[in-house]
Amino acid sequence: MKKVERRALLCVLFGLILLGGLCYFIYEDWHDGGEWAVYEGNRDVYADGDLAKGALYDTHGNLLMRNTADGMVYNDDSDIRSACMHITGDKDNNISTGANRVFLDRLIGFDFINGIYSLNNDGEDVSLTLDANVCATAYRALSGRKGTVGVYNYKTGEIVCMVSSPTYDPEDPPDPVPEGSYINRFISAAFAPGSTFKLVTAAASLETQDDAYSYEVDCTGSLDYGHGDEVTDLAVHGDVNLKKALEVSCNCYFAKLSEKVGSETLEKYVGKAGLDKSYDIDGIQTKAGTFDYPEGGVNLAWTGIGQWHDMVNPCSMMVYMGAIANGGTAVMPSIVKPSNIVSEKIDEAATALKTEDMIDEDTALSLTDMMRNNVESHYGGNSAFPGLELCAKSGTAEVEGQDRPNAWFVGFLNDENNPYAFVVVVENSGYGSEVGGNVANKVLQDLVKGD
Ligand SMILES: [Zn+2]
Repeated sequence: MKKVERRALLCVLFGLILLGGLCYFIYEDWHDGGEWAVYEGNRDVYADGDLAKGALYDTHGNLLMRNTADGMVYNDDSDIRSACMHITGDKDNNISTGANRVFLDRLIGFDFINGIYSLNNDGEDVSLTLDANVCATAYRALSGRKGTVGVYNYKTGEIVCMVSSPTYDPEDPPDPVPEGSYINRFISAAFAPGSTFKLVTAAASLETQDDAYSYEVDCTGSLDYGHGDEVTDLAVHGDVNLKKALEVSCNCYFAKLSEKVGSETLEKYVGKAGLDKSYDIDGIQTKAGTFDYPEGGVNLAWTGIGQWHDMVNPCSMMVYMGAIANGGTAVMPSIVKPSNIVSEKIDEAATALKTEDMIDEDTALSLTDMMRNNVESHYGGNSAFPGLELCAKSGTAEVEGQDRPNAWFVGFLNDENNPYAFVVVVENSGYGSEVGGNVANKVLQDLVKGD
C-alpha cells in the first residue's frame, strides 16, 4: 500500500514539474516571442535589412503604408502621406513612433501560439482607428506651422486624428529635412499649457472649496508680489467669479485661487487629471508631463495659471478633456483596431477596463457648462463654430526665446452622435482662441460632416 502511495506522489510531483516547465515556456514565448521572431536575421521577414511584410490601413480601409520587397509604398495622396508620416514612419526608419518600429509584431503577423503565421505569407493588414482624410485636413489647417492636432472618441477611446508638424512627404523627402520632423509632438513632446491648465485649478477648487462658485476676486489687471514680481492680465476684469474668470481667462483670479487651493491640492489634482502620467497607446508610450509645486508666492500663482514650470503632453490633455466630456471618467486612447472577432470582444472588454475616474461627475458637469459658456460668450459661438456643440478652453503660453506665444485650444463636442475630445497646439503663432480655435473648427467640421 505504502509503495503505491509513494508512486502516486512521485507521479504528481513529476506532473507538477512538467506543468511548471510548460507554464514557463508559454510565458517566455508570450513575453519574448515577438522579439525572437523579429530578430533581423530572420530572412523570412526582412529583405535587405528592411521589413518586407505587412500593411497599414486607416479606419475606412485606405492604404497608409505597405512594406514590400522593394521598400515602403504609401498612400497616393501627398497630404495624407505628410499628415500620417509619424505613424507610417519614414523610409529610413528615423521615427520612433513609426509603424515598423511600434507595430512590428502585428505587421509580420506574429502571434504567440503559431509563431510567425499569416495565410499568404505577406504579413498582416493592420487597421488603425485614424481617419486619413481628417488627418489631412488637420495637416492643411496647421499650414506649415509647428504643432499638433489630436482627436479621439471619448466613448470608445479610438484616436481618429493624430498629426504632428513639422512633417514631410515620405515619398519625396526634402533636403535637409525640417528640424523636429522626426518627433511626434502629440506623443513625445510637452509644452507649457498656458490657460488651458486653469481647468485643473478650477477642478481642484470645485472639489475642495465650499465657496468655489461664489468666491470672487476684484481684478485690477495686475497683482503685485513685491521685489518686482507680479502677475499681469491683458485687461482689467473687475469683480469676477469662477465662471467669469474662466471665460475671460483672468490671471489675477487664478493667481489668488492657486494660493487659496494650495500647492499640495494642486499637485493632487494634476495627478488625478493624469497630466503627469505616461499613457500606453497600443504599445506607444506618451511623454509624461512635468511640474514643480512652489510653496506659495508668484511662482505658485503662475503654476495655477499654466506657466512657471508646467509642462504638459498634448495627448494627456486630450484624455483629460475626454474625462470632462464623459462625466469624469476617461476612456484610455487606442489606435489599432481589433483584427478579428475574438480580439474585438477582448477589445470591448478592455475598453470597459481602460477607464480612470479623473474628476467627480458634478465637477465634470460644472466644467462642461463653463466651457460651453467660454465658446458662446468669448470664442465666437455659433458663427465661429457653426453647428458644433463645442465646449472649450484656449491657452496662450509664453515661451522664453520665442517671438510669439504657443496657441492651445482644447475641449470636446457635447454631442452623443459625435463624442470627440481634442487638443490643438500651434507653436509660435499667437492667441489660442483665434489660431487654435480656427484649426479645431476645420478638423471638427470635417469629422462631423463625415459621419
Ligand atoms: Zn483679470
